[in-house]
Amino acid sequence: MSEQPAGLDGLSPSAPAQDPSPLPLRPYPPVERWDDWVEFDARAWPRRQERRYSLVPTVCFNCESACGLLAYVDQASLEVQKFEGNPLHPGSRGRNCAKGPATHNQVYDPERILYPLKRVGERGEGKWRRVTWDEVLDDLGARIRQAFLEQRHNEVMYHVGRPGHDGLMEWVLFAWGCDSHNSHTNVCSASARAGYAFWTGLDRPSPDHAEAKVILLISSHLETGHYFNPHAQRVIEGKLAGAKLIVWDTRLSNTASRADLHLSPWPGSEAAMLLAIARHLVASGRYDRSFVERWVNWRDWLAADHPADPPSFDRFEARFLEQYADYTFDFAAAESGVPAEQILAVAEAVAACEGRLAAHTWRSATAGNLGGWQVARCLWLLSVLTGSVGVAGGTSMNTWDKWVPRPHHLAPHPERWNELTWPQEYPLAFFEMSFLLPHFLDQGRGRLDTYFTRVYNPVWTNPDGAMWLEALCDPAKVGLHACLTPTWSETAWFADYVLPMGHGSERHDLMSQETHAGCWIAFRQPVRRLAMERQGRTVRYTYEANPGEVWEETEFWIELSWRIDPDGSLGIRRAFESPYRPGEKLTVHEYYGWIFENTVPGLPEAAAAEGLSPLAYMQRYGAFEIRQGAKASFEETVDLAGLEDLRTDPTSGIVRTSSPATPSPNITPHPVFAPTAEGRPVGLRLSPEDAVVRRGFDTPSRRLEFWSPTLKDWGWPDLALPTYIQSHVHPSRLDRAAGEMVLIPTFRLPNLIHTRSGNSKWLYEISHRNPLWIHPEDAARLGIHTDDLLRVATDIGHFVLPAWVTEGIRPGVAACSHHMGRWRLQETAMERWSSSLVDLKRDPEGRWDMRRIEGTRPFASTDPDSSRIWWTEVGVHQNLTFPVHPDPVSGMHCWHQKVTVQVAQPGDRSGDVHVDTARSRAVFQEWLAMTRSARDVSPDGLRRPHWLLRPFRPSREAYRLP
Ligand code: SF4
Repeated sequence: MSEQPAGLDGLSPSAPAQDPSPLPLRPYPPVERWDDWVEFDARAWPRRQERRYSLVPTVCFNCESACGLLAYVDQASLEVQKFEGNPLHPGSRGRNCAKGPATHNQVYDPERILYPLKRVGERGEGKWRRVTWDEVLDDLGARIRQAFLEQRHNEVMYHVGRPGHDGLMEWVLFAWGCDSHNSHTNVCSASARAGYAFWTGLDRPSPDHAEAKVILLISSHLETGHYFNPHAQRVIEGKLAGAKLIVWDTRLSNTASRADLHLSPWPGSEAAMLLAIARHLVASGRYDRSFVERWVNWRDWLAADHPADPPSFDRFEARFLEQYADYTFDFAAAESGVPAEQILAVAEAVAACEGRLAAHTWRSATAGNLGGWQVARCLWLLSVLTGSVGVAGGTSMNTWDKWVPRPHHLAPHPERWNELTWPQEYPLAFFEMSFLLPHFLDQGRGRLDTYFTRVYNPVWTNPDGAMWLEALCDPAKVGLHACLTPTWSETAWFADYVLPMGHGSERHDLMSQETHAGCWIAFRQPVRRLAMERQGRTVRYTYEANPGEVWEETEFWIELSWRIDPDGSLGIRRAFESPYRPGEKLTVHEYYGWIFENTVPGLPEAAAAEGLSPLAYMQRYGAFEIRQGAKASFEETVDLAGLEDLRTDPTSGIVRTSSPATPSPNITPHPVFAPTAEGRPVGLRLSPEDAVVRRGFDTPSRRLEFWSPTLKDWGWPDLALPTYIQSHVHPSRLDRAAGEMVLIPTFRLPNLIHTRSGNSKWLYEISHRNPLWIHPEDAARLGIHTDDLLRVATDIGHFVLPAWVTEGIRPGVAACSHHMGRWRLQETAMERWSSSLVDLKRDPEGRWDMRRIEGTRPFASTDPDSSRIWWTEVGVHQNLTFPVHPDPVSGMHCWHQKVTVQVAQPGDRSGDVHVDTARSRAVFQEWLAMTRSARDVSPDGLRRPHWLLRPFRPSREAYRLP
């Protein structure tokens, strides 16, 4: 405890108020005072009343960016006074968006779920009984054990919305022997991932915005997109340092408003524009010829598609120009509606980037359109042509800037394949076909015995929510649904168990994200628990320190696994035993402590230098920086010392050895390094004479696969090169004269989170509407003005909402933000800050009608602010009216909708929704018919190319088609 209480300099309680501060002003409390920090209590003003705080670092859980937070925990009451940024976190550097500090609202929400609940009425009836955690764990443990004893492993499914951790569920589900992981990826990023993965073997880009000369964003990353706050900081840094910021977004987003050049293309035309730029770079000779010659698999393309050609780079260049001859600026302009000179201006900027092009797309155009994965592929082509790969100011791939450590015990890959998540129709999908689950259950492809949803609200977040309602209400399809959630949600309402889990300050997790050119690991931790432990108090389980009986998941999975396998006879318990106390139950500190001691490069040494254990170091600082700066991992020289029987393939240059691999501390060694009958691949010689063996890319060729043999071999030879696929909302597929338009429904609002902002009063006070953006020309055609009610008809239903007439959108295109339209079925339940009370009805033919009874209004609670709610509008749940649109290659749900916009009809109310699930099934069949099944196209009898990324990878044997 410091002898002299000192606050932010100049605010020191012990200094007379009129004295100038003797210390320089600092933006954050110095870390040496985090154990005992003193500030005046603002609420006691004008009295100068001190409050003493324990400042505990943790990690925000409100999006995937994993920014650092610093919790101010009152030492006397253990109340969390506020959350600020953790200045020691390398990704966020002490800064947060509005959602970080709003963690406080989530923790102190008067309507949060504090105890486990069990359904007592019909599903969805809203009748609950409080139960004990023992009751829950015994029930789930016995049920899952029985399923495992009967070899029904895959009937136990874990379906996650926001993971918020790295490596945890591989540890759990591998130990259980299930292929039971399901995710939200197909409604989010599958398309972008596929585009990057066919090129590189890795599925996320990591741009270095801060050092870039040109920043090209096909998204609204500055204010809402992927790695929002860490990226936004660095985009602005790059811009202030002179980088040109180019944004492609049909909508005038906040990001677009900051751009040097904003292009508003017709949705889905982006790949045509990118290819015109690529062609221009090559045609004008302003590209990095040397990089492309060294690293791109151009020889493979010539050999496959032009076998009579000499294998020379000049020939490749000629073929490239021939291949893309049609992609002129005029063609791109005709497709996109963007003037040719604007596309040329982008091309000229890219040509002048000097190998420092930071380019990024995620969701956005990739997630909206049929074939959107080719947008990411064509964007990466610009990174390759400019030589901006893995260099300062360029774009890297995620695993070069991310570290996912291995736990103390990782069971072998399971020997099962789950057809409900990885159906044969989608052999190249990224990843699980999660949003089709209710359709697959509907078709009788399987059933679920025990279904965990975890921080996931598919009824509201996914398309076709009414199909989810039908599945969740049918015990023949879903035997038991346990919803692990920190908040109420539309999905939780239809569960059998609602199990309260901690917010970002109430749980342990490890996180590492590719937020910038560098690599770090961060530790989310329960801040009250840490504050209690700093006071010398013993806390055995995190729920002892959390409000009510809120658990953290790491402890939940340990406990549940022990109850599934109490005597260890199933071989499961072993993974959940302590590495330090053989045969005894693992504690959460042992789980993370072992990881920090054994698998994080440099951490044990850094901790020892301060006389701390690695766990104590992470508890104190909350983050550790593994590396600074960009790293071109593919260029790394492989150490061949000790490797026996080295052989270099004369055609590919791939070098193999018979020596086994050294065990990796990382959880995800890429499958291209797996041994085969030919030996274990270790790297690549770029030419036969090259003495150096380099690591190469994570593709079968170890090069950048401009031409994808995988796409060719798996039924898509026409798409093996980066190309332009006309979207399902291409102008030729619309009858504009009949009033058909395109709806962009994907964009976020910067201060909201999908479901969890619903219990944040600060965030909902800022944003609580999602009107339809519509251009003045369309408004004039319809004879409407801002705030007039509109009815928007999709292929399966319609929704009603007010208009916002704006020039921030193209004529013929409308836009509506997601995050809005939360609803509840009972007056007194569920996030009344953000939900409207509705009446929901289904007729026997599967036609659903949601009728808004009322929007938000003030309510009495332990928080006086709930009686001060002044807003009534909370938006419309548009996703209910969207049929599923699974892209036949990437598996991505293609979010954009062909719609008809009309003036609302008499009796329509804002927020009304109508859906016909018979139409849902019909549209699903139309899209399913576009697929090319592994059974028809697999070249090797496998369900999926073994080299292609797949989370929770089963054994190789399980890949075999039955
Ligand atoms: S960007 Fe905002 S919501 Fe996301 S982790 Fe950072 S502070 Fe939290």
